[in-house]
Amino acid sequence: MSHFEVRSYDGAGRVGELTVPRADLTVETPALLPVVNPHVQGVPPSALAERFGAQILITNSYILHGSDDLREPALEQGVHELLDFPGAIMTDSGSFQLAEYGEIDVTTREIIEFQQEIGTDIATPVDIPTPPDVPRGQAAEEQETTQERLETAAAMDTGEMLVSAPIQGSTYPDLREEAARAAAKTDLDVHPIGAVVPLMNEYRYAELVEVVAATKRGLDEDAPVHLFGAGHPMMFALAAALGCDLFDSAAYALYARDDRCLTVHGTEHLEDLTELPCACSVCEDHTPADLREAEESRRHRLLAEHNLSVSFGEMRRVRDAIRRGNLLELVEARARGHPRMLDGYRALLDHAAQLEATDPVSKDAFFYLSADSPRRPEVLRHHERLARLDVAGDLLVGGGEVERSFDGYWRLVPPFGPVPPALSDVYPLTAQLPERLDTSAYEAAARGVAALVEANPELSVTLLHDGWPATALSALPEDVTVRRTDGTR
Ligand SMILES: [Zn+2]
Repeated sequence: MSHFEVRSYDGAGRVGELTVPRADLTVETPALLPVVNPHVQGVPPSALAERFGAQILITNSYILHGSDDLREPALEQGVHELLDFPGAIMTDSGSFQLAEYGEIDVTTREIIEFQQEIGTDIATPVDIPTPPDVPRGQAAEEQETTQERLETAAAMDTGEMLVSAPIQGSTYPDLREEAARAAAKTDLDVHPIGAVVPLMNEYRYAELVEVVAATKRGLDEDAPVHLFGAGHPMMFALAAALGCDLFDSAAYALYARDDRCLTVHGTEHLEDLTELPCACSVCEDHTPADLREAEESRRHRLLAEHNLSVSFGEMRRVRDAIRRGNLLELVEARARGHPRMLDGYRALLDHAAQLEATDPVSKDAFFYLSADSPRRPEVLRHHERLARLDVAGDLLVGGGEVERSFDGYWRLVPPFGPVPPALSDVYPLTAQLPERLDTSAYEAAARGVAALVEANPELSVTLLHDGWPATALSALPEDVTVRRTDGTR
């Protein structure tokens, strides 16, 4: 039975509801799970819920399991009371420690049982987090071990507790896709995409996009996807646009301990700031100098609070953008924060067809924002639609008015191309365009003309343009007659 329901889509991004039966709670997604260290809590979990609206957090059952101080209290009181958190609690299993130290002393069976005993709402088996760039043979072999452990977990009676099925496969998209297919067959509940933190730390967003897109291809459409270790708000929109539903953040605390502030555009070091470019309550009440002079633990707490405000704020913005149908505009804006984010956005657009599959047919407005906008799924969809139309006769495309010698007249709207009169007032052809378009917009429009002409051999097209660049004109099929609106050639 699926515990996840999508409420609305934008591209492959979705707002959904994850039902967590053991917590008797429905988590609205995309959701951010703050990482809570059971030993050190800079910001108490109760404050995460009350002040920042966290519905779910993630902590580490392996640390609880191995702790002389916390193991018994966790078993006696349960993890919710131990952490004093009213929402849902997901627990990790020690895989991170396995990756860091090479070995751990629990099995999947033991740690799943322990997670069940402490009252975990979403448990995790001990998967093998294969890092990026390892030899393919290693990635494939470790993936097999991970899959065996998922099957072990799936065979256990875990009652109402949800169990996650992490997906590994290093930086090999085909292995990720295969791993996802195998994980989907286990019928486990949530799918974390594992071992991508090194990619994010090294700003390898384009490769991250390939990994996530491949994983998504292997999963069922309605499977909830968790991007493990994704805690920097600058990439929430990008990952959500690929269809990631859960994110977890240790970044808010780790960066704070390093005196760094997260923003939606990147990271700022406290020592470099003369003003705080943020409107959260910490930034309203303090100057960078106040923070620098504050006692260390207070400074780290305040920075962590700022980081949480920014992170939860961005997650709300992402959900709202999905509901309003302008998530890709948000991704595009974020892509302008860092050149590597731009690479990530461009890699995302390589998968426009994958995004198009769930993209709603109608939204509020298409905003053309850059030379990358012509590669959006809405443009691709229009071209596919042109290729399905059945048209014949002499058609004038472009120019301001109908000319009598033609059988029909269609508007010409870059980057979409020819617009059948019936679609003129229909999304996305009501797009808001800048007056100064990019070459890529005309080239995309030419692809639209080509799609229409190639699908209709009985059609003769005359294109009236207002000075298209040569690269766009040369992309037109040869049998299209081309004229300029001002009569020049
Ligand atoms: Zn702030």
